[in-house]
Amino acid sequence: MDVVVLLGPPGCGKGTAAACLVQKLGFIQMSSGDMLRDIVAHKTATGIDAATYMIRGALVPDIMIGRMISDLIEAGPDSARYLLDGFPRTDGQMSILDDILADCGGVLRAVVLIEVNEAMLIERLVGRRVCPACKAVYHVVTLAPKQADICDACGAALVQREDDRPETISQRLEGYHRQTAGLIDAYAARGVLKRVDGSGGVDVFTARMIRAFE
Ligand code: AMP
Repeated sequence: MDVVVLLGPPGCGKGTAAACLVQKLGFIQMSSGDMLRDIVAHKTATGIDAATYMIRGALVPDIMIGRMISDLIEAGPDSARYLLDGFPRTDGQMSILDDILADCGGVLRAVVLIEVNEAMLIERLVGRRVCPACKAVYHVVTLAPKQADICDACGAALVQREDDRPETISQRLEGYHRQTAGLIDAYAARGVLKRVDGSGGVDVFTARMIRAFE
């Protein structure tokens, strides 16, 4: 089993990168944020607990997300190529991933760091709108739907994520610098880190992502 990790601050384009790598290179995407939003929407006991962290822009405990990821990876076929979007995000989660890979003989092929300056991150997060039904992502200025607030793909009403409100965005960015940015040096020291410039429009960015895998 091969694993590629997408690393970078909120709003850097991990979801966009994942969509293009799934489509062009056949990865199976695992978005920790989407998995958590699903259990929150279904109001499971874990979901209700997770929501208390997510609503204030904090990370959920390592053990909670670690269990979800390991259950999924261990249930998948040995030949799978997983793209982890949003996991690991802490030193503890990095160790959990190492343990999962050791248990199932998996290999960490690459950690792709998507780099975007902070002003652009904030602009992207504040303007982001998502489709709760099919998960398509829009931006009020740079990727507007044909009809305001309606998903082009499935016609559902678009929403702003609770944690994309300005007061929560600053918590998430601060948390990234405090808890996640340290993983960059750790993975660079292992020789698996690839850096990709996440600035610019979707087409330019996805072309850079594909090139990083050539
Ligand atoms: P994302 O969609 O990746 O921006 O994640 C949205 C929220 O889900 C984050 O702000 C966290 O509250 C939670 N979350 C997602 N992934 C993780 C993770 N690997 N560890 C802890 N919390 C996470």
